[in-house]
Amino acid sequence: MIIAKFGGTSVADAAAIGRLIGIVRSRIGDRPVVVVSALAKVTDALLGLGALVHAGDGAALGGAIRALVERHAAIARDLRGAEAAMPAITEDAATLHRELGAALGRMLRPAELDALAGRGELWSSRLIAAALEGAGLAATWVDVRSIMLTDDRFGRATPHLQTLTARARGCLKPLVETGRIPVTQGFIGATADGTPTTLGRGGSDFTAALLGAALEVERVEIWTDVNGLMTADPRIVPSARTLRAASYEEAAELATFGAKVLHPATAQPLVRAGIPIVVLNSTRPDEPGTIIEPSAELERMGDSPVRSISWKRGITVVNIRAPRMLGAYGFLRAMFEVFERHEVVVDVLASSEVSVSLTVEDRTRLDAVVRDLADLGDVRVEHHRAIIAVVGIGIRSTPGLAARLFRAVQPANVEVISQGASAINMTFVVQERDGPDVVRRLHQEFFGTC
Ligand code: ADP
Ligand code: ASP
Ligand code: MG
Repeated sequence: MIIAKFGGTSVADAAAIGRLIGIVRSRIGDRPVVVVSALAKVTDALLGLGALVHAGDGAALGGAIRALVERHAAIARDLRGAEAAMPAITEDAATLHRELGAALGRMLRPAELDALAGRGELWSSRLIAAALEGAGLAATWVDVRSIMLTDDRFGRATPHLQTLTARARGCLKPLVETGRIPVTQGFIGATADGTPTTLGRGGSDFTAALLGAALEVERVEIWTDVNGLMTADPRIVPSARTLRAASYEEAAELATFGAKVLHPATAQPLVRAGIPIVVLNSTRPDEPGTIIEPSAELERMGDSPVRSISWKRGITVVNIRAPRMLGAYGFLRAMFEVFERHEVVVDVLASSEVSVSLTVEDRTRLDAVVRDLADLGDVRVEHHRAIIAVVGIGIRSTPGLAARLFRAVQPANVEVISQGASAINMTFVVQERDGPDVVRRLHQEFFGTC
């Protein structure tokens, strides 16, 4: 059994879904479970409806929902059998229109936003299941919310592993064993009382991994719009090369620091069973892609100790300067308690004897954090920063790398420098506007052509 997960661009239009059908057909012998994202840009468009609701613009809301339904309908007309999905999609869109219409003039609550955002996956999966059936494949649409039990942290819900494992085995396995191809949704789940949730943006990869671990599959295939995990984001570095292999650890670090190609949590459920992830290009299915697994630790990319470079924009640096921290054992604990209390995740941390600098991405609760930190020392906040991460297993065994790195980065100003505990990455902070250029210069340094 395998998982075949298709991202937004891999299901964007009729041609893309046609390619998906070809790929699934080529995997029949592997007994695939198909996990899909919403059609490209549909999640953004759905979340955009929230602003129309808030503005009380009922006419624009109706038009935007009709446009979304029409996009699915146009694809359905081009794919044999896919129109069978349209009654369910149209009916659900009408329900959505009623729900949002009743909320006109106010902000949607987090639970309502999750119910809204998840519609994209529900609709795309219906379309794709019908198109697969139309192509003569035995597809069965499965509502993943009956499997993916989560807590109620809307927008970033945490799945309940034990329950989802039992349910995936009970629901998906028998289908596969009778020769069916389950087609289900990434990204979404539901609480114990059935309220819809989402796992966070880009979360379909995580769903694929969770279901893969539950079903103990041979591999999890992530079908996307690039040839695999690359030495840098090809949109920033056009000459970036595809990696043949990477370790779970490297993939997780790269994803955490901005490599959008995988959700940061993807490797996590698969580590224990050692199930490989293969990242593949749905427009070039014969390319070998990147295999992510433990044994990749043994492989080196040429003679470079660095495997890949990623960056993440929209970062805020919080500096806390506290002379009193000298010799004060409780300082770091008190500081972390502030972040924990407000549930703000810290990405990078660097400290000296009198100050601590750390980075956060989510600014929603930052004001409250800064207020509480002021009890501990002088707090300075700097916005519009970017984290650059240089990742590779070889980093821990290569002396002199930091000097090489900082020479290459000049003249950009480097602010917070940190090396992860795993010592497979070096991360630092620069001004956001310098980010792409710094990535290009590092790529030139470690991989040549830029
Ligand atoms: P999907 O819709 O298939 O989930 P995403 O848009 O989420 O795809 O992720 C794929 C994109 O990730 C690529 O188009 C590429 O621009 C970007 N990306 C960023 N860093 C990397 C990297 N190191 N390797 C490959 N792709 C990367
Ligand atoms: N459709 C969701 C998003 O755009 C989930 C995903 O594509 O992974 O974030
Ligand atoms: Mg993605």
